[in-house]
Amino acid sequence: MSEILYSYNPATKELVGEVNVTPVSQIKEIIDKSKIAQKKWFDLTIDERIAYLQKAGDILNQQTQSLAVLLSKEMGKDINRSSGEVGGCANDILYKANEVKSAIKTQVFSNYGVQTQMQYNPIGVCAVIAPWNYPMAMAHWLIIPALVAGNSVVYKPSEETPLIAQAYVEIFQSVLPEDVLQIVQGDEKQGKALVNSDVNLIAFTGSKEVGEDIMKNSSKGFKRLIMELGGKDPLIVLDDANIDKAARFAVASSFENAGQMCTSTERIYVDKKILKSFEERVVLYAKQYKVGAWNDSSANIGAIINDNQRNRILNHIDDAKQKGAKVLLGSDNHPDGFILPTVITDVSEDMLLFQDETFGPVVAISSFENVDDAIKRANSSEFALGASVYGQGDIEKVAKELDAGMLGINQGSGSIADTPWVGAKSSGYGYHGSPDGHRQFTQVKVVSKGQY
Ligand code: NAD
Repeated sequence: MSEILYSYNPATKELVGEVNVTPVSQIKEIIDKSKIAQKKWFDLTIDERIAYLQKAGDILNQQTQSLAVLLSKEMGKDINRSSGEVGGCANDILYKANEVKSAIKTQVFSNYGVQTQMQYNPIGVCAVIAPWNYPMAMAHWLIIPALVAGNSVVYKPSEETPLIAQAYVEIFQSVLPEDVLQIVQGDEKQGKALVNSDVNLIAFTGSKEVGEDIMKNSSKGFKRLIMELGGKDPLIVLDDANIDKAARFAVASSFENAGQMCTSTERIYVDKKILKSFEERVVLYAKQYKVGAWNDSSANIGAIINDNQRNRILNHIDDAKQKGAKVLLGSDNHPDGFILPTVITDVSEDMLLFQDETFGPVVAISSFENVDDAIKRANSSEFALGASVYGQGDIEKVAKELDAGMLGINQGSGSIADTPWVGAKSSGYGYHGSPDGHRQFTQVKVVSKGQY
C-alpha cells in the first residue's frame, strides 16, 4: 500500500490535500528514465528546449491565481506574496532561458592552425532538492537553467509544500517530452535516497545541517553540488545613519515572509549614540504589522509553517528573556499557528537569537560602541549570506570588512538582475542566476581540432 503525504494549512490546521509518497524503491527507475530522457532532450536545439519551457510558462501565467491560492493555503503566506511568487516564475522563463543561452554559448579559440572549442555541455541528471519558504521560486530558479542547458531534472520538494510542487511539475509535464522533469515526493528519506542515487548534480536549497549531510553522502561519482544554505544576516547601523530609513528596513526585513526568509535581518548592531531613537522608530513601524491567515487582507505577517518551527522561535525569545534581553514589543499570548510581531533589545552573542537561524518575525537589537567591535561581532556567525549597513562616514570600511555573499549599503542585500544570489562561509556555495550561476549546470568540454 502506498504511503500518503498530507498537507495542512498552517494557520487553521485544515487538510489542504494529499499526494502519494514516492517509494524509495522506485528512485532507481526514475533516475534510469531520467538518463534516457536527458539524451533526447539534449539532441534538441536550445531554441527548441526554450520553446517547450515557454509553453509551460504560458500555462503558469493562465493559472497564476489558482496556483497562488494553493501556495498560500499550503504555506501560509498572504495571497499577494503568493501571486507575486507564481507570477514571477511564470514571467521570467523566457528572460532566464535567453540568459542561459548566451552564458553557455560555445567559445572558439584558434592559434597555429588549431581550433579549440570550449563547450558548455549538460552534466546529465540533476536533482533539485528544495525548501518550503518560497516553494515555487526556490525550485524554479534551479530547474529552469538546468533544463535549458540540456539536463533532465528530478525534483524533490519539501514535505511541507508537496501540493504546489505537484501542480507546478504537472504543468511542465503536460508540455515537456516524457521524463525530462520528474518529481519525488517525500521527506528526508526520499531526499537521502536521491542524493545516494546515480544523479550527476545536486542543486540544494535548505538548511546548513542538511547541506552538510548531502556533502557527506555525495562523494561517490564526484557529484557536482550547488549549495544554497541558511543565513543569519546582520544589519549594522552607524551613528550617522538615516535612522528612520534604517528602522523601516530593519522591521520590513525581519518580518518579511513572517521572518521565514534566508536573507531576513536576524541580528542588528546599532551605534549606542543612536540606540534609543532607533528603538523608538523600530517599535513604531513594528506596531503597524498584524498577523493573519493568507486571505486576511488586513494582515501582513502570515502563519508559521509548522509547530516545530513555531516552538523554535518561542524558544529563542524565551532564551533571550531569561538571559536579560528586554522585550520592547511582543506578547506571551501568540495565537495558535502565529508569532506576533516582536522587538527585543539588549540581545547578545550568547543568546540563541544571535546564534541560530530564528526564522520568525523578530527584530533582535544590540548596541556597539566602536565600529571594529560591531564588524567583529557581525562576522562571528558561521553564516554569511546577506548583510546590510546604513550610514555614511565608515560605511565603505564596514562594507569591505563584513563577511557576506550579498551586501547592501543603505539598502537591503537584494541586487539587480544578472548578478547572482550567492552565499559565503556556511551559507553555502554555488548560486542562483547570473551567467556564472547558469554555467554551474554544465560540464565544460574543451575540444581541439587539428589539420587532417
Ligand atoms: P531543510 O534543510 O530542512 O529541507 C530542505 C529539503 O531537504 C527538503 O526538501 C527536505 O525534505 C530535504 N531533506 C531533508 N533532509 C535531507 C537529507 N538528509 N538529504 C537530502 N535531502 C534532505 O530546509 P527547510 O526547513 O525546508 O527550509 C528552510 C531552510 O532553507 C533555512 O535554513 C533557510 O535559510 C534555507 N534557505 C536558503 C535559501 C538560500 O538561497 N540560501 C533560500 C531559501 C531557504
